[in-house]
Amino acid sequence: MAEKYGLLIDYEWCTGCHSCEMACKVELNLGEGHYGIKLFEDGPRKMPNGKWEYLYLPAPTSLCDLCAKRTEAGKLPTCVHHCQAACMSYGTVEELAAKAAGKPKTCIFVPC
Ligand code: SF4
Ligand code: SF4
Repeated sequence: MAEKYGLLIDYEWCTGCHSCEMACKVELNLGEGHYGIKLFEDGPRKMPNGKWEYLYLPAPTSLCDLCAKRTEAGKLPTCVHHCQAACMSYGTVEELAAKAAGKPKTCIFVPC
């Protein structure tokens, strides 16, 4: 069976820079209001330990094709390539699960 590939996003380090969103729009040639990955914001909220939490949450959409043209050519997806915080990874589900181990604010996205 073919290996499944996906994206890992570590929200702990996302700075909310929108670079992934913009790079993706260029790659997929998307017009206004359409996204292959969209940045959401959550917070701020005071946590039980007294610290404030403010999260940026980039979420791939159903338009994401994992940058099929780029990855077939051996390149990284453009969102991963342009991520300013290096908090996005591309790989097999097994590789991404290993990277996510012990990190509480990660999400793995695998397109259908
Ligand atoms: S992998 Fe490519 S298509 Fe998917 S969100 Fe990233 S830039 Fe967009
Ligand atoms: S490019 Fe990286 S740091 Fe910037 S919004 Fe996207 S995931 Fe966050």
